[in-house]
Amino acid sequence: MSFERIKEKLNILADAAKYDISCSSSGSKRANKGGLGNSDGVGICHSYTEDGRCVSLLKILLTNHCIFDCAYCVTRKSNDIKRAAFKVQEVVDLTMNFYRRNYIEGLFLSSGIFNSPDTTMERLVQVAKKLRLEENFNGYIHLKSIPGASDELMQEAGLYADRLSVNIEIPTISGLKLLAPDKKHEDFIKPMEAVKNAIQIYQSEKKIIKSTPKYALAGQSTQMIVGATGESDRDVMYSAAYYYKKYKMKRVYYSGYIPVANDSRLPALGSPVPLLRENRLYQTDWLLRFYGFDIRELLNNENQNLDLDIDPKLSWALRNRELFPLDINKADKLLLARVPGIGLKSVYKIIEARKFRKLNWEHLKKIGIAYNRARYFITCDSNSFEKRDLSSLQIKGLILQNSNSKFRKDYSSQLNLFSS
Ligand code: SF4
Repeated sequence: MSFERIKEKLNILADAAKYDISCSSSGSKRANKGGLGNSDGVGICHSYTEDGRCVSLLKILLTNHCIFDCAYCVTRKSNDIKRAAFKVQEVVDLTMNFYRRNYIEGLFLSSGIFNSPDTTMERLVQVAKKLRLEENFNGYIHLKSIPGASDELMQEAGLYADRLSVNIEIPTISGLKLLAPDKKHEDFIKPMEAVKNAIQIYQSEKKIIKSTPKYALAGQSTQMIVGATGESDRDVMYSAAYYYKKYKMKRVYYSGYIPVANDSRLPALGSPVPLLRENRLYQTDWLLRFYGFDIRELLNNENQNLDLDIDPKLSWALRNRELFPLDINKADKLLLARVPGIGLKSVYKIIEARKFRKLNWEHLKKIGIAYNRARYFITCDSNSFEKRDLSSLQIKGLILQNSNSKFRKDYSSQLNLFSS
């Protein structure tokens, strides 16, 4: 195979992979035992293109041939695009070459479904197996689980990959039926369940037998396409909360739909989901996982979509003014974490600092709280303070006036597309 042809394949198959954003590589520890590379300490090794998409690792598809016709996907069989396919050995060689040159720290490998889910998954597993066993590769490997692949293949995949992910794609079952009629909801659930069970078995067995073969040390993740159907943020986040709980996901990624087809079932070409919507979903995800919020506090029947102009914590606080102001020198740490403008690091610093003195505004600024937002929701050891009789709307206006968020002006018609 000529170098030019490999280059051409790489161009096609790396470009096709850019729509998958679920490729951060945190959480793996695969010690180097004399082989090449080391995924331990790789941490978050992703980088972002101008439009905010992750392009770290060697991120490619094995092939962009696909027997399915999911309306939202560039790789769908009805799309008239250039197709290509790597051989297993070609992916292995590319990975090793790039790794040796320090261009990458690992491999993110996905694929269109050719022939059948099992044939495709088998090839993906072969790549990872060859890298580990023949090349002694200890770098990070993230394999896509092909919907509908057998439990046996999922079991094998986890022996060589650090992370496995099967993309839910569309957050609602009805949306999936509409846009991906070839796929069944169970096709996603089955591999997820298999991976979850295998991880649990590995974790309990290794407590007894130290030499138990490692299995998907960085866990599993999934990705949802947001804005391809008319789902609300509530639909998206309730679905995410379900997958975190039921399938022990390490991460759920939210990818704003990029219109790739002229199809009456989908938003029109040229109306991409604003990055700001993705950003608000990630902020909500963070509040659920680390700040002790319940999904129903942030999104419910009355609030089905997140505010685009303010972050979800501020939005929640403005709806719950009766809980504020909090005395910064006395409040419980869980409540402190709910104050807009106070992050977890600042909470711990406040708890430590107030053991030694009463904190005033100067102390809080030095600690690093976002004073512009927090000052409307707290009191401290200081006489000077804002007027307390401001309405939520006035507070929001004042905060926005002083905000320099890069997203401030980034509103788009996307959210209104389905409401007319
Ligand atoms: S199965 Fe995957 S690659 Fe194939 S069309 Fe659907 S989303 Fe695209």
